Amino acid sequence: MLPILATPKYDMIVPSTGEAITYRPYVVREEKILLIAMESNDENQIEQAVIDVIQSCVESPINIDDLTTFDVEFIFVTLRSKSVGEGIKLAPKCKHCEEVNEVKINLEEVKVTNLENKIDKHIKLTDDISIDLKWHTMKDRQKELRNDSETQTVINMIVASLETIYSGEDIHVVKNATDKEVREFVESLNTDQFNEIVEVLANVPYLSYDMDYDCEKCGKENNISLNGLTDFF
Ligand SMILES: [Zn+2]
Repeated sequence: MLPILATPKYDMIVPSTGEAITYRPYVVREEKILLIAMESNDENQIEQAVIDVIQSCVESPINIDDLTTFDVEFIFVTLRSKSVGEGIKLAPKCKHCEEVNEVKINLEEVKVTNLENKIDKHIKLTDDISIDLKWHTMKDRQKELRNDSETQTVINMIVASLETIYSGEDIHVVKNATDKEVREFVESLNTDQFNEIVEVLANVPYLSYDMDYDCEKCGKENNISLNGLTDFF
């Protein structure tokens, strides 16, 4: 019988819940899944690969469908930092002279921005109707990516973000309502109410890393802010 390679285990904290989870770094099997997804250049396929890798590597019971997009992104970058030895190399172009530099970034320094400012996700729409919003899950985002016009995308975003609707004494848990009902509710909002919701949702926490470096060729300073998941591949 061939030997089994032991994999180390680590703990990390899920940003939105503060819950500790145990994971192992990913190995060649998972690296392969990620590479194939990257080559496809398809955002949905990349996100699906990330979800699959998290499901294989996280050993604590988690329901990935309930995690926010920034949880999933942060878990992935943390897994990646332990799997590829913390540093990854990027090749940004200098904004002054266009020279391509090689810059190493430390994935352990990637932060979740906006997490500390506790955003109030309760909004009073009228004297007797108010709502609770929730941050998006990866699944919500995947549903949206499929979509049409910009207005339609914003409507979809709000539909996916409604958690509870309070009407007088009644409490409606939105996930128990039909998609059609929720859509009708969102489409009946007036402009002020709509904008207030959009404003709250714009404060969603996100991954960030400030890449500051001096260009090797012209010596000038570059400051690039990295945010999305694919920035850290
Ligand atoms: Zn330069």
